[in-house]
Amino acid sequence: SRLKEGLTKTRNNIVSSIDAVFGGFSTIDEDFYEELEEILIMGDIGVNATEKILERLREQVKEKHIKEPAACKELLIESIREQMQVGETAYDFENEQSVVLVIGVNGVGKTTSVGKLAGILKDQGKNVLIAAADTYRAAAGEQLLTWANRAGVPMIGGKEGADPASVVYDAVNAAKARGVDVLLCDTAGRLHNKKNLMEELKKINRIIEREFPDAHRENLVVLDGTTGQNALNQAREFGQVADLTGIILTKMDGTAKGGIAVAIQSELNIPVKYIGVGEHIEDLQKFDPEQFVNALFD
Ligand code: GDP
Repeated sequence: SRLKEGLTKTRNNIVSSIDAVFGGFSTIDEDFYEELEEILIMGDIGVNATEKILERLREQVKEKHIKEPAACKELLIESIREQMQVGETAYDFENEQSVVLVIGVNGVGKTTSVGKLAGILKDQGKNVLIAAADTYRAAAGEQLLTWANRAGVPMIGGKEGADPASVVYDAVNAAKARGVDVLLCDTAGRLHNKKNLMEELKKINRIIEREFPDAHRENLVVLDGTTGQNALNQAREFGQVADLTGIILTKMDGTAKGGIAVAIQSELNIPVKYIGVGEHIEDLQKFDPEQFVNALFD
């Protein structure tokens, strides 16, 4: 599958190393666990999630009186799967009109993800509108317009330097007037200017609540999978300025440390809702932990 293909680097790294451990040890001893621990941490699964995964594995090995490493590989996979259960997957945008704020620092793949998501939803027959509320960079607006045109989705923007909240105001009212199913709002990601960003997101939030109180809301933070533990910190920072409902995890095709998806699910307790495994539209996929783990290990 496309997902499996997109995770090739991670499969070649973490998964191959795990296989080597299961093949290389004849007994389950401390060295065996240490080796696994190192691989999981190197693969960006994170210290905490790794600890929980191995603790669970040890329990099961004891309980089931397993002696052979080969006999507990399935248990390790199961244990990774368990760590990824956040209990919520991608919203299907079926029933209510939705307003989706997409936030994230520059360069993580925010504009691309908004463009891809617009195309995907449009293909599902939904009436989609894009708001280009990153008015700080002219290039961002132009890039988003290219995606909007490609997807055949209309876009509302503002001149460079325009108030992002006023763009959102216009877009929300257009969405109501046109009976739009999903309004996707790209926002500026200036985390270095946290106070302004916070004020701006608050203002945008107030406007959506006031103008469109009945809309289903999603606040999705876009994280670059290749940035490892930094991605976790970004999510925490954005979590302080907005109620995050989900994560779009991009560039997973570009990292050999795809364990970051496990760390995010396990440590942030915010569901990854979409995963990016390439630059094409079909490379943004709904994230399902089960599918993800299967794509890695099958
Ligand atoms: P923004 O500044 O956050 O809006 O980032 P962009 O949307 O402009 O994306 C930055 C770069 O990352 C672009 O070259 C995108 O094509 C690329 N990109 C985005 N998502 C993915 C992905 O899932 N995989 C790969 N390989 N590249 C991606």
